[in-house]
Amino acid sequence: MTTKNESPLIHCEGLSKAYESIEAVTGVGFELEESESASILGPSGCGKSTLLRLIAGLENPDRGTVSLFGSEISSPRRMLPPEKRRFGMVFQDFALFPHMSVSANIAYGVRGSKAEKQSRVAELLELINLPHLAGQMPHQLSGGEQQRVAVARSLAPRPRLILLDEPFSNLDYQLRVQLRRDIRDLLRQQGVASLLVTHDQNEAITFSERMLLMNGGMLIQNGNPSEIYRYPKTLWAARFVGEANLLEVHHTDGDNRTPLGILNFAKGSTGNAVTVMIRPEELHLLPPDKDMTGGSIVSIEFAGPVQNLTVRLDSGEELRVSTSPKRIWTEGESVSVVPEHFQCYDASGQRLDDEASLNPVSSSSS
Ligand code: ADP
Repeated sequence: MTTKNESPLIHCEGLSKAYESIEAVTGVGFELEESESASILGPSGCGKSTLLRLIAGLENPDRGTVSLFGSEISSPRRMLPPEKRRFGMVFQDFALFPHMSVSANIAYGVRGSKAEKQSRVAELLELINLPHLAGQMPHQLSGGEQQRVAVARSLAPRPRLILLDEPFSNLDYQLRVQLRRDIRDLLRQQGVASLLVTHDQNEAITFSERMLLMNGGMLIQNGNPSEIYRYPKTLWAARFVGEANLLEVHHTDGDNRTPLGILNFAKGSTGNAVTVMIRPEELHLLPPDKDMTGGSIVSIEFAGPVQNLTVRLDSGEELRVSTSPKRIWTEGESVSVVPEHFQCYDASGQRLDDEASLNPVSSSSS
């Protein structure tokens, strides 16, 4: 039986790494608990792989620390070599040993007697649903099968953490979606913590319980996927994790005016808001009503489970609206637009905490 540790599995504090003049990772801090799955999400070149390599011990930080269950493992004095960390790694290019069979690849890192190794390999082959491929060589497998074997190989020595660097990006869309579901379920079932590097927000949202959103080497936001999607801390985050309608706020006659009405803050805060951000599915369309903000449908795009509309407000702004495909709309149709959930940002792109409401200016009074 294992006892639960008081300290988090991983604790990074002020981690920084530069390559000559390039600041790849700057001041990153976060914690990862045992069995927790997190993803490091951000655009290409933002420092995701460098952060993963710092945690794996494949790079040494210039500043800051990585701790394992509360003990520092990253400084030159207290460096724990990568092979002693008990972290598994899975890469984009599968990286199986080409001259070894599937079974031998999986058995590679397992310690113990021959019988123990055989039993662990058999168990893992069952878990990845490939017992019939035990004797095959890597080149005889499809990309998806190779990646399942790579995951099994990394799980075989019972690691405490699996680090995955863009493991699904060399696979076709359908296979990628299926494989990431299977691997997520497998890691959860095995109770192994994971850190997944990806530039694909759908992958991050569906794979992990927590997202670490990075840009320009820095950690922008750390939270669960729905929190980051609904309450992005910055305008950049809002745009990166999904589609965002951005409306300018104009300060006129003491009011904060937007094309969807006047902004009123619960705590009466002032004119800090310069942008309102609304997700397309948070805009509701109703029949035209002079007491609501009006507009008309400019285009309709059917996208399977949703329908994406462009609506031009009477004031001229165009908004993206997602609705159920069950409702039939026609181009040119007049509508009222009602915002449900939205966020406000200041001039530096930081989210304002103060709750706000948007009150339409009726066409009879505007
Ligand atoms: P990501 O994984 O988000 O694509 P990386 O961590 O690979 O980003 O890279 C972050 C930045 O550091 C990039 O500008 C990249 O060119 C640079 N970089 C990464 N590794 C090295 C290296 N070994 N030598 C020089 N520059 C590097």
